[in-house]
Amino acid sequence: MKHAGTQPSADTPLLRQYQRIKAQHPDHILFFRCGDFYEMFFEDAKVAARVLGIALTRRGTDANGEPVPLAGVPYHSVEPYLAKMIRAGYKVAICEQMENPRFAKGVVKREVVRVVTPGTVVEENLLENKANNYLVGLVLEGERWGLAALDFSTGEFSITQFEGPSASATCQAEIARLQPAEVVLLAEERAAIELALNWQASQAELGLGAETGEPTREGAAEVATRTPEDRPAIAALEGSMPLARARELLVRHFGVHDLSGFGAEDCAAGVRAAALALEYVRETQRAQVAHLTQLRVYQPGEFMMLDATTQRSLELVANLTDASRRHTLLEVLDHTATAMGGRMLRAWLLKPLRSPERICERLDAVGVFVGRGVVRAQTLEALRAVHDLERILSRAVLKTANARDLVALRASLQQVPKLRALLREVLTEATLLQRLYEEMDPLEDLVSELVAALVDNPPVSVREGGLVRDGFDPKLDELRAIAGDSKSWIAAMRQAEIERTGIPNLKIGYNKVFGYYIEVSNSHLDKVPPTYIRKQTLVNGERFITPELKEKEEIILHAEERIQELEFEIFERLREKVCQQARQIQRTAAAVATLDVLVALAQAAVSGDYCRPQITPHGPDAELRILDGRHPVLESLDLGQPFVPNDTVLDHRENQILLITGPNMAGKSTYIRQVALITLLAHVGSYVPAREARIPIVDRIFTRVGAMDQIARGQSTFLVEMSETANILNNATDESLVILDEIGRGTSTYDGLSIAWAVVEYLHNTKGRRPLTLFATHYHELTDLEGILPRVKNYNVAVVEEEDRVAFLYKIVRGATDRSYGIYAAQVAGLPRAAIRRAKEILQSLEEGSGVHVKPAGGRSRAGEETLQLTFFDVLEHPVVERLRAVDINRMTPIEALALLAQLVAEVKNSRGSS
Ligand code: ADP
Ligand code: MG
Repeated sequence: MKHAGTQPSADTPLLRQYQRIKAQHPDHILFFRCGDFYEMFFEDAKVAARVLGIALTRRGTDANGEPVPLAGVPYHSVEPYLAKMIRAGYKVAICEQMENPRFAKGVVKREVVRVVTPGTVVEENLLENKANNYLVGLVLEGERWGLAALDFSTGEFSITQFEGPSASATCQAEIARLQPAEVVLLAEERAAIELALNWQASQAELGLGAETGEPTREGAAEVATRTPEDRPAIAALEGSMPLARARELLVRHFGVHDLSGFGAEDCAAGVRAAALALEYVRETQRAQVAHLTQLRVYQPGEFMMLDATTQRSLELVANLTDASRRHTLLEVLDHTATAMGGRMLRAWLLKPLRSPERICERLDAVGVFVGRGVVRAQTLEALRAVHDLERILSRAVLKTANARDLVALRASLQQVPKLRALLREVLTEATLLQRLYEEMDPLEDLVSELVAALVDNPPVSVREGGLVRDGFDPKLDELRAIAGDSKSWIAAMRQAEIERTGIPNLKIGYNKVFGYYIEVSNSHLDKVPPTYIRKQTLVNGERFITPELKEKEEIILHAEERIQELEFEIFERLREKVCQQARQIQRTAAAVATLDVLVALAQAAVSGDYCRPQITPHGPDAELRILDGRHPVLESLDLGQPFVPNDTVLDHRENQILLITGPNMAGKSTYIRQVALITLLAHVGSYVPAREARIPIVDRIFTRVGAMDQIARGQSTFLVEMSETANILNNATDESLVILDEIGRGTSTYDGLSIAWAVVEYLHNTKGRRPLTLFATHYHELTDLEGILPRVKNYNVAVVEEEDRVAFLYKIVRGATDRSYGIYAAQVAGLPRAAIRRAKEILQSLEEGSGVHVKPAGGRSRAGEETLQLTFFDVLEHPVVERLRAVDINRMTPIEALALLAQLVAEVKNSRGSS
């Protein structure tokens, strides 16, 4: 925010200090600590008042005699306000008082200690505890992308890069997986990156200024909602980041000789991206980044690729209805006991492995816990006592962790010996468990120090004492004795004074203004000795002090102040010790999280009656075979009847493409998704909902499911459908699994059928691009392909046709359906019987090619019937048809289409009304 020109200069020392600091943070909202409040002045005050819905007041005047706008929030409950600012797209600079105001000479020293941005928050309330919060660094070098994923709240830091013609698409899929809260890039590359990732539209939609990316002041208040998941906040850094400088930054940060220890030599673009992210967090977090202890390099090919559409339409971690976790694969599997395990499970689901060895390592470990119920239950119980070690550690590094955090850390680490003991019983049965056992460090020294030092239930504040146990620090014990003695001295004094003066209700109290005082009620004032010095008159009595009382007060207050300071010092030392163990704590945390996920997957397998999939390599002989497969999410819901399991066989010889036909609501979509989900789960290293499953390694799963609502993207639905289909045809390989649901539904029948037909042919015939495919379609004409293309097989969902209705069996059987059952669907939906009967008549006539017999209105006799040769245009001959012909659907947004539809409907109704 630049308002140097318009902002008046201030004429108090405090405002002068404010403006000096604000000048260094023109783009941030400055939360300026004043006593118990964070205050905002000038423009910032107006923005804060609007975004936070707090009162805008005035304080004093500036140099021009104008009142200074002011808004404030209480420091002890700042988090929700911070959250609102961040979600509205602002960055907040936190400016603290750096000395105790009581001892300050002149204006209290203040400094910005941290800038909070969407990608760097660590506050518990600003984060979802079972999801990562990524800051992504991005660089683009021609056709090469470098990507760094940094979760500042946990210390996870990894890099990769993408090369070649499809690098942008791969990078985009990776970003969709990470769902970063914020992306940091170079200002000079911004336009190119936004273009390549399709982010241009975000500016206008979010009310962001086109050049700066900072929210426009007007726009932001209205759009005070979360940034859409696929368009993170953007931080554009000025200047450049040459490789040499990037290397140096990282080498210095990690304290290593070179980056070869991380295996990062061949990842130059990734290194540059990491340096961008690191520079950004160092700048915003004032160098408090000690928990970034390691850089991990990964290859894009390590994981099965899931583009954004596939992630969404398979409802892996967010559902299509409200983007929440409800009814997602994650929800069904999430039996994790810790937040860390929850985050890891989520990450695993979005990063299925492609190495059969690594998958089997996980399966072996899951299998151990499937087979051993007691160990599983005991492990789960120990895990339940483990807190979020990763985020506690990050808060410790940022000095925002309090004593409760360290007590939680202590309690968590105390579980580690129990977990190791449980692992020891089973570690010969799975190499992964052996490794976890070795990686878990109980950190005994740290734990015993924390046990000795910290009380069990410390207060939230770390500056007001009450944190440290008696007997831990001799100096502290001494001060406590002094303060305690003096307090009992005061109690004794009261007793003595009551006896000496004969005032039975004499009281000794304390307040901040007078310190300790003696209070006497009006009725006994005559007994007050002359040595008492009067300080204050109340309605019911008077307050006095005496010199000896003041002497003791001095001792008590001094001791208490010293106690608070000393306790804080001790606490800070402990926090520092925790930070020194960052690497070991992180390793332990990762091992505990992994164990948590493995146990959770075992729990899911047991409660869902899943089987261990057999993983086979990819190749021409690969076969995907599922016996009695189920949809993991649907089967967990109450459908009013048991879920019907189904078999699947896909291979490259005869069963490459399965065409699935059947009436609406028969279970086609469910079936093809369940195959995708089972395949994905197998790659995650999970057991799968089936009686038996043989799953070959797959490089990608593609889906094109349903006519999704893409209004937010401002593109026509059909265009989206086609671009997603194009993505599949261009990128699917022999190793891919493709799920197509109702391709071509978004356009006219003949167009749609032709496109669907061509898509099947392409997937069947193009060498190198012959993915295993499941194709659910309402075009029963497509079933003719089985006779023509050797690797296409027809299946349909069995139904029983009774007299007047269709009963669904949800059983997939070999063969084609010869009809679309649309009329049955209409009947199920409750169309009147007469209309249904009539529709059947018309259908029959059309199928016979004999035209439709038009009934005269109200007439029952056949005499008045005419025959109408039916074509589309005949039916539609109406003035609006002319207008419809002029419409180009592909160039319309869904909103425009809706508007046009509304208009046409209104016209039709009007013409009815007037005729
Ligand atoms: P289609 O795609 O053929 O229109 P869906 O796959 O959307 O049908 O399924 C419609 C509904 O049928 C589901 O919401 C579910 O309630 C039920 N259903 C689908 N498959 C099964 C099954 N295998 N067992 C039991 N109910 C099922
Ligand atoms: Mg369907």
